[in-house]
Amino acid sequence: MIARTLTLLFLVLLGAAWGWSRGSLIWTLVGALLGALAWGIQDGISAVRLLRWLNNGEVTGTPRLTGVWGELLDRNRKIFKKLEKKAQSSDARLEDFLSAIQASPNGVVLLDASGAIEWCNQTAAAHLGLDPQRDLGQAIRNMVRSPTFVAYLAEGDFGHEIQIDGPGKRPSQPNKISLQIHAYGHKRKLMLTRDVTAVQLAETMRRDFVANVSHEIRTPLTVLSGFVETMQSIPLEEADRARYLGLMSQQAHRMQTLVNDLLTLSRLEGSPAPGSGEWVDGDDLLRQVVQEAQGLSHTIAEPPHAIEVQPGLSVQVSGVRSELLSALSNLASNAVRYTPGGGHIRLGWRPRAEGGVEFFVADSGPGIAAEHLPRLTERFYRVDRSRSRETGGTGLGLAIVKHVVQRHGGQVQIESVEGQGSTFILSLPPTRVREVVTGD
Ligand code: ADP
Repeated sequence: MIARTLTLLFLVLLGAAWGWSRGSLIWTLVGALLGALAWGIQDGISAVRLLRWLNNGEVTGTPRLTGVWGELLDRNRKIFKKLEKKAQSSDARLEDFLSAIQASPNGVVLLDASGAIEWCNQTAAAHLGLDPQRDLGQAIRNMVRSPTFVAYLAEGDFGHEIQIDGPGKRPSQPNKISLQIHAYGHKRKLMLTRDVTAVQLAETMRRDFVANVSHEIRTPLTVLSGFVETMQSIPLEEADRARYLGLMSQQAHRMQTLVNDLLTLSRLEGSPAPGSGEWVDGDDLLRQVVQEAQGLSHTIAEPPHAIEVQPGLSVQVSGVRSELLSALSNLASNAVRYTPGGGHIRLGWRPRAEGGVEFFVADSGPGIAAEHLPRLTERFYRVDRSRSRETGGTGLGLAIVKHVVQRHGGQVQIESVEGQGSTFILSLPPTRVREVVTGD
């Protein structure tokens, strides 16, 4: 401030001295005024330069100023730098924050007070069919047109979540999104979305399963209790009594088989995959399976089937013997049950081109239409319901086979043409198989 006053004084005096040298008091005053004016102009220029720099708000391109203006410029520049650093670190934190929300498996949408989309992550965009860039600023009620969502928005009661169909929904591919709005700030809203398709599917499967089991048990139970009531109310001849008891025992046996299959399935699902410690002889398994199949064929088919074993490969398979036997027998007994009497059944072990071996059962039965093939291993899925029931099927056989094979690292494959028989193939990976070298 002193320097500034001194400069002003110096210029006034200089002007006055110049006027004095012209020899009159008027000139002296004019000179002093000119000196003050020169100081004012120079000061004004500095002020304008500083103001222009401040208006541009740039830290770079700083003008050279001295004195108090220089000081002001310096202090402002320091404040600018500090603010810029702060803004940069806030930006970086916001970036981090948004990246974290992007990484969230849940969808997040921020809505402003008018319900327009301020920001949404990729997950929410996928859940709701939005474009995270293009749809910014759009009203959410125009973007998500599900009637359930529109009603939810209109009602304004966000204390519960709702479920809507996702954009990828097709009859064969359900897509369910759960969604809830949470109010925050000044009338702003946070919308969270979650893909619950798998949960819904599991819930539907559970419900279907319970309904199926109840249905399967109710039928023989109804028959059984009907016979019990008849026997309690009507005196029966010995022959009728024996026949009724036979039928009752058949129904009880059906329930027992069902419960056993259910227990087998739940045991397979609940226990860890078998290790590779125990080696089971393939020929031994095959012999037992063929024996059982022949026994079954003689009981239910007239004439019995021609069951042929494909000779050749002698293998050992690592896994659980009882499980493997149950899987192979299931395939063989299905072939016997679904192929009319006198038909052909061929089965055995054979090598796979890609390594490992496979057990196959080929029959000359009715075959299976292509649309059923992908669903055959589902629990209780049956193509021929009456044939299945007549022959004591539970609808769980192929589900058990699939579980056993998957636990042993293999796969079930079904090849069939309607009217031309079926081939069921159970393949095992090379790690679970070793060839038996027979010495003389
Ligand atoms: P089920 O106890 O009813 O036999 P599975 O799970 O073993 O149940 O088989 C499912 C369905 O697949 C059967 O109901 C039957 O319709 C069909 N199926 C299985 N094996 C054969 C086969 N060899 N030939 C024709 N249909 C078969």
